[in-house]
Amino acid sequence: MTTFMPSFRSLDELQAIQLDGLKWTVDHAYSGSEIYRKKLKDVGYTPGSIKSLDDLQSLPFTTSSDLAEGYPFPLLSVPLKDVVRLHASSGTTGKRKVLCYTQKDIDDWTHMFARCYEMADLTREDRVQICVGYGVWTAGAGFQLGCERFGALAVPAGPGNLEMQIEFLMDFESTVLCCTASMGLLLAEEVERRNVRHLIKLEKMVFGSERSSEAMRSRIRALLNLKDMFDIPGMTELYGPGTGLECRAHDGIHYWADYYILEIVDPETLQPVADGEIGEMVVTTLSKEAVPLIRYRTRDLSAAKPGVCPCGNLLPRHDRILGRSDDMFIVRAVNIYPGQIDSVLSGLAGIGSEYQVVLQRSEGKDIMNLRVEAELGLEPSSFPEKAALVRESVKRKILVTPEVEIVPYGSLPRSERKTKRIIDMRQE
Ligand code: ZN
Repeated sequence: MTTFMPSFRSLDELQAIQLDGLKWTVDHAYSGSEIYRKKLKDVGYTPGSIKSLDDLQSLPFTTSSDLAEGYPFPLLSVPLKDVVRLHASSGTTGKRKVLCYTQKDIDDWTHMFARCYEMADLTREDRVQICVGYGVWTAGAGFQLGCERFGALAVPAGPGNLEMQIEFLMDFESTVLCCTASMGLLLAEEVERRNVRHLIKLEKMVFGSERSSEAMRSRIRALLNLKDMFDIPGMTELYGPGTGLECRAHDGIHYWADYYILEIVDPETLQPVADGEIGEMVVTTLSKEAVPLIRYRTRDLSAAKPGVCPCGNLLPRHDRILGRSDDMFIVRAVNIYPGQIDSVLSGLAGIGSEYQVVLQRSEGKDIMNLRVEAELGLEPSSFPEKAALVRESVKRKILVTPEVEIVPYGSLPRSERKTKRIIDMRQE
């Protein structure tokens, strides 16, 4: 079978590929984009001056405001006649980002996405029902092109419409479903409600655009008895979804380090953090033509996973995405990310998924109040015991001791969009 995995056989070989790509990328951006040229000149860069991967540290960061300034074709580093497509992000914060692609960029992205299906152990016999948004967004096009390049059968169903999705699952005997985790759960419940599990052949789900919580996965697994489920990371700035995937070992996300370099930095100091520590993901592309990225600050938080994966694949790994660096807060000189609190709470019995952090200052000292919902049905008499459990777990894993209050299920505010969980009442 054709493989979409890279051919390097050691980390030295990977680093040689990265160095070549880095040299090409920086010179290409310098000659192709006035904005990049100015940024690079400001740090004293001259073409050809990259000699080792360590030289990456001397390059300037790029941020989403660089993409906003050049709207509608920011950081474009090739003539427009070489651009064959554009995609836009949904713009959850501020104006939407528009990114251009050359034909080679599309081919590279397609190859990366085909690699995702290979990493998820699909075969050409698989039938892939793609229930994500088609249009100017990167999702539909990415899932579709990658599936066809891989050689499986694509069923471009689009999002929503559970009635049609279930009909397709039965008629086309789809074996893989690509969707958001929320939709996966809705669909699983609908299959259960109609009692049609025995009529469908579904084996795997691939979740894009929203990370799946452990609770969601175990519910879907229980309802559909799936062989496997995978989160697919990705962002429009970096091609789109498909730039990495969990493998069957489910011990972190392999990322395609032959297409981009990933740095993890402290979002405050911008210095690299130690292996395994949480920081902001910063990406530098190695062969992207239309809009190369040089040290692009993604704002997503994760950690590098040291060592070789149990699956044996040499592609490096990062942890699951733990939230956004914009959401970080500091208590008694400790950086805390909401994702860390999520992960502590999700491991505790009797505790729900909703919580609220209220930060106050008293006599010059930070106080962190953590209000956590009990699980549905938990007796109020056991709230104090659960509060002590949460306090100890947060203290042990995050190194700050909060004041904890357990509140009844359903009493904290919920939002269909992003729920505001951090309320900072400290005076500057
Ligand atoms: Zn692996």
